[in-house]
Amino acid sequence: MDQIRIKDLRIFAHHGVYEQEKEQGQNFCVSAVIYTDMEKAGKSDDITDAVDYGAVCLFIDNYMRENRFDLLEAVTRHVAEELLFEFPAIHKVELEVEKPDAPIPLRFNSVSVKIERGWHRVFIALGSNMGDRLKYLERAAANLQADARFRNINVSDYMETAPYGGVEQDDFLNGVLEAETLYSPWELLGRLQEEEQLAERKREVHWGPRTLDLDILFYDDLILAEKKLSIPHPDMKNRQFVLKPLAELAPSFVHPVYRKTVAELLAALTE
Ligand code: AMP
Repeated sequence: MDQIRIKDLRIFAHHGVYEQEKEQGQNFCVSAVIYTDMEKAGKSDDITDAVDYGAVCLFIDNYMRENRFDLLEAVTRHVAEELLFEFPAIHKVELEVEKPDAPIPLRFNSVSVKIERGWHRVFIALGSNMGDRLKYLERAAANLQADARFRNINVSDYMETAPYGGVEQDDFLNGVLEAETLYSPWELLGRLQEEEQLAERKREVHWGPRTLDLDILFYDDLILAEKKLSIPHPDMKNRQFVLKPLAELAPSFVHPVYRKTVAELLAALTE
């Protein structure tokens, strides 16, 4: 993706573990690589279509002077996330914050911390087969909508589905939610489990009845095969109640393992 690069922006601020750093302040040096789509601005030659790098520099300077953190790790993480909230056209940012005068009694040029943060495209399967099913699904979607670490949320239509996995139980209501998120895959799993807890879900029977089930289907084109987290969701290609709503939102999304689009997987299952 296209990039804007900012090198060695000088900022005087008060971050540090030691009292003297907090009181007296010191110089910081910030470098950033900003990933943004420049096609529109390149064509229109209009600043309102671009990420204004002057505004970005002023924002970083202001944020770092107005806030105080002990650790460079915390400064860097907060600045990166605030940039992503403030400038929606930034998809990803690599940010390095240096302390040229860090309190180390040795000769050195500088110490720095560098991180990368960005919006990730995710698809989440929603299901419920207990109580007011629609209310559970809609409340979960609304709660994610209200969380600043999600944006551009779309929800498919909901569909009635016969239960899957051999346990005798009521029909499910299923759907898929698409979003962009700042959560890492593991943070996202934790966040979704919080929502399941809110719905008073109890894990009693495997594949048994539940008020709310939230599964991560895709996280960008990430492939992860850990015991407690598999992405893409392993059994997706056999589940019409996943593929159908998914195809409504993103028919041409390519499954990173099978190298087939969602529409192709759905067609293969329907045959
Ligand atoms: P379930 O009963 O379907 O909600 O399964 C929940 C367990 O599946 C959780 O404890 C997760 O650790 C694990 N899991 C593995 N992969 C995923 C995934 N892609 N999305 C959600 N949970 C997952």
